[in-house]
Amino acid sequence: MSREIKVYDTTLRDGTQGEGVSFSMEDKVRIAQRLDALGIHYIEGGWPGSNPKDLRFFKRVQGAVFKTARISAFGSTRRPGVRPQEDSNLQALVEAGPPVVTIFGKSWDLHVTHALGTTLDENVAMIGDSVAYLLKHFEEVIYDAEHFFDGFKKNREYALKTLRAAEAAGAHCLVLCDTNGGGLPHEIVEIIREVKKHVKAETPLGIHVHNDTECAVANTVAAVSEGINHIQGTINGYGERCGNANLVSIIPNVMLKMRLDCIPSASLRELRDVSRFVSELANRKPWTSQPYVGDSAFAHKGGMHVSAVLKHPDTYEHISPEAVGNHRRVLVSELSGKSNVLWKAREYGIDLDQATPDSRRILDRLKALEDEGFQFEGAEASFELLMERALGRLRPYFELDAYRVIIEEQNTSGGPVSEATVRVRVKGILEHTAAVGNGPVNALDHALRKALEEFYPNLKTMQLLDYKVRILDESKGTGAKTRVLITSGDGEETWGTVGVADNIIEASWQALVDSIEYKLRRDERRSAGR
Ligand SMILES: [Zn+2]
Repeated sequence: MSREIKVYDTTLRDGTQGEGVSFSMEDKVRIAQRLDALGIHYIEGGWPGSNPKDLRFFKRVQGAVFKTARISAFGSTRRPGVRPQEDSNLQALVEAGPPVVTIFGKSWDLHVTHALGTTLDENVAMIGDSVAYLLKHFEEVIYDAEHFFDGFKKNREYALKTLRAAEAAGAHCLVLCDTNGGGLPHEIVEIIREVKKHVKAETPLGIHVHNDTECAVANTVAAVSEGINHIQGTINGYGERCGNANLVSIIPNVMLKMRLDCIPSASLRELRDVSRFVSELANRKPWTSQPYVGDSAFAHKGGMHVSAVLKHPDTYEHISPEAVGNHRRVLVSELSGKSNVLWKAREYGIDLDQATPDSRRILDRLKALEDEGFQFEGAEASFELLMERALGRLRPYFELDAYRVIIEEQNTSGGPVSEATVRVRVKGILEHTAAVGNGPVNALDHALRKALEEFYPNLKTMQLLDYKVRILDESKGTGAKTRVLITSGDGEETWGTVGVADNIIEASWQALVDSIEYKLRRDERRSAGR
């Protein structure tokens, strides 16, 4: 059996320290579930001592079933001069209560005396005490040696002493961190070799690096080649400053190039979808030329490349794009992405035979919508409805007659007031309702529910959890198209829907209608036992 590389994802903690990246609680739960399905071994959910939202996340996922992933909470060693059981940060970790905890301690003497303002000996005691205390409360304790590589370069004896303190206290893994991200692969290799001479052969080591020299992926791969089996990083490399090590590149590097075990090989085909899913929820544009998963990663434009690659893909492709869920694109004459649709359809339990008119119809519809600016990553519910509509399986639950939204700015405190009226036909009856809301979309949502809840009482359990807007062509300013992504939930499941229009209200309406139809369709299928 080959070595197994364990992946520790910190998108939900270190990733959110990246500029412009933030996730709602629902986003975090959805990402954690998606990472679990991918086969990630550890998911760091947040820093409960620093942020009440993070504590709520841990409460929310307590009792949730994760197939592979172990949830981890992040925090620091105890403060100087207090006992672990009196330290509020350590108590918050215990209260969060996941099976795994990761604490960071200082490795660099300068940080101990200048940032922490304590003595070098007290810092070593803080590391040992904190690890020993947490071992009583957690199944697994991971120690992050913050600034390890910089600390080692400045005061090697002291950096090693802090690491040995965590080891002696019984930490399950010692993670060497390049916190400032300034290291280069040859330095990482040299230092890991030195560290190995000073810790027990059986002590597991890990790596956590940042991307300030654009070497985070290279540094992680170099660490793996030195025998390190625990790698930390984030999806798409999101993270502070220039980001963390990008797991979306590291995972295929480790599996396809180094031939080591990591996530299940069948899940590797999910990689592009997971990358897109996280970028949609982060409301960040996907990086077109992202290695392995970007739109351009297997796009061939030059005439000679195109003809060669069509005859024999190995001529200009380093791996088969399907291995990571991507596909070849030929830019002179776009080839259909039909196999992708089939793959997606299978995921949703819809069996489309490659040769049927059904698959052609779905594909045509998909292409037309994508040309309009629709995108279905993060909007699985809309994609499922698209397939059902194309197959003629979805009967409308209601029909729109008209809607109207008024936004009235009054010369009083309290801001503008939104009011929506909706006329819809439900089961042959014309319903005409009006409602106010804190914004136009909120008012529309209220008015539509008012019309529908009498007929479909199960809609009462459904809530809109999140709302994201993206302008599709920034150069046109307010004249551009708008894409709206709505996340809804009913306590059992959360789902995403999408709408695209020239008008933000119309785009929101489409996403809103999909969200309601998805809920009704799913409940109907469940009660029919399908
Ligand atoms: Zn970090």
